Amino acid sequence: MIDNLLEIKDLYVEYKTNKGILGGNQIIHAVNGVSINIKRGEILAIAGESGCGKSTLAKAIIKLEPTKSGQINFKQHNILTMNKKELKNFRKSTQMVFQNPYSSLNPKMKIIDTLKEPLLINTEYSQKEILKIIKEKIKKVGLSEECLELYPHEFSGGQRQRIAIARALVLNPEFILADEPVSALDVSIQAQIINLLKELKEDFNLTFVLITHDMSVIKYLADRVAIMYLGEIVEIGTTEEIFKSPKHPYTQALLSAVPQISGIKSERTILQGDLPSPSDLPKGCKFHTRCSKCFERCAEQNPSYIKISESHKVKCHLYI
Ligand code: SF4
Repeated sequence: MIDNLLEIKDLYVEYKTNKGILGGNQIIHAVNGVSINIKRGEILAIAGESGCGKSTLAKAIIKLEPTKSGQINFKQHNILTMNKKELKNFRKSTQMVFQNPYSSLNPKMKIIDTLKEPLLINTEYSQKEILKIIKEKIKKVGLSEECLELYPHEFSGGQRQRIAIARALVLNPEFILADEPVSALDVSIQAQIINLLKELKEDFNLTFVLITHDMSVIKYLADRVAIMYLGEIVEIGTTEEIFKSPKHPYTQALLSAVPQISGIKSERTILQGDLPSPSDLPKGCKFHTRCSKCFERCAEQNPSYIKISESHKVKCHLYI
């Protein structure tokens, strides 16, 4: 039996723009009917261009973004209908690692206080127990106990991201949402943080959702990949299936831009035009305004998912 930690069913997220943005009072259709399961112990990457809805989807999954409709089940309990106590337990089980380690740590707090904070708020551990947990976690991310008495500005970007990861670990979460966790770091440091995330996933049997536009990070870290376009998942499969045999023209375009990673030797698929506004979604297939393989039906009918294998499906009329 597949053990799903999270089950997202037909999720919609939309919001109104403020005055001055797109003329004000526009409805942004950020997530449009996403259904996806996240298995316990896996790293699921959500990829796509900036503005495709991946960060909004990820934040909605951990209830940081209000939803319009749908269901988000965490260990078979819908988080959208949880009471305060259930929600508090859910919050302890889920943590986030942000893109920018410079702004995610309070510059006025010593590292020891930053790491203590979630434990003081969410547990009834004694000071001695709290200190023991903090020392364990700071070592686990490759830093020494001496770091605990320092302030964030005394660390490099990579070290700060290690501290942010240690803070995410102190409550022993089951699920971590990592939003572009290495994109603000020097290239030389990125590999160290990627290796650390991989190691922690194994050691603590963590489940990750990884939000990134960087296909090389996905190839190295993720077990499965979901490709998102204008608020929809247009293709999902194992990392091997997506990299070796991408089916959706959008996935092919994303991968053909980085042939040394994908190994795809076919000619480069050029994306036409810009991402349409999520306040004015195209009719039919949402990708048809930019797709080089578009044909008549594409502008009229939104395609259903086509099963390529047990783990691989694609939303495109070409595979009917
Ligand atoms: Fe392109 Fe048509 Fe497939 Fe959409 S359905 S991705 S427009 S071929």
